[in-house]
Amino acid sequence: TPVIGVLALQGDVREHLIALASANALARPVRRPEELAEVDGLVVPGGESTTMSKLAVLFGMMEPLRERVRAGMPVYGTCAGMILLADEILAPSPSSPPPSSEGRPVSGQETVGGIDMVVRRNAFGRQNESFEAAVEVAGIEGGPVEGVFIRAPWVESVGAGVEVIAEHGGHIVAVRQRNVLATSFHPELTGDHRVHALFVDMVRAVN
Ligand code: GLN
Repeated sequence: TPVIGVLALQGDVREHLIALASANALARPVRRPEELAEVDGLVVPGGESTTMSKLAVLFGMMEPLRERVRAGMPVYGTCAGMILLADEILAPSPSSPPPSSEGRPVSGQETVGGIDMVVRRNAFGRQNESFEAAVEVAGIEGGPVEGVFIRAPWVESVGAGVEVIAEHGGHIVAVRQRNVLATSFHPELTGDHRVHALFVDMVRAVN
């Protein structure tokens, strides 16, 4: 049985622990480098990405996280977690989503990286900050998943090595690159653990 950590610096850690256990993994919170060293895979939860990234630096986790991702450990990020796994982050749009060319890099927000993509924070805009939608995810059988989007990012562009596995309203909302999986939405907040099961399979495949 794979041991999968949930980065427990900030965010919806508990919900991921429950979803992973339902998908037949041994799930545990990870706060320190020693704890990170003991897991086969890691979930980076939803929450607030600037806070999470500051805490990762403060707790001495940023470099160890980058190293493990580079070394091939499977990682799954939801929402704020997706933002942390992006090689490049764009600032939230001021009100409604601007065209992609107007994005500016978020200064000072460090990322773990791992997916060759540009992610825009809070991209779906103020008037529509939180919503639910049925999302078809490539590789997941049995119909669409219920996508819970909470001040969600979207993926503005991806490099050649990135597989787009879901879109919503013309925007990329789920991607995979090798060992790294990310969704704009929160499967851990629904009773449907198929995305977590997909991730557990990714962890099994490398261990
Ligand atoms: N808007 C948040 C951020 O930019 C992410 C929201 C979430 O994780 N639900 O960090």
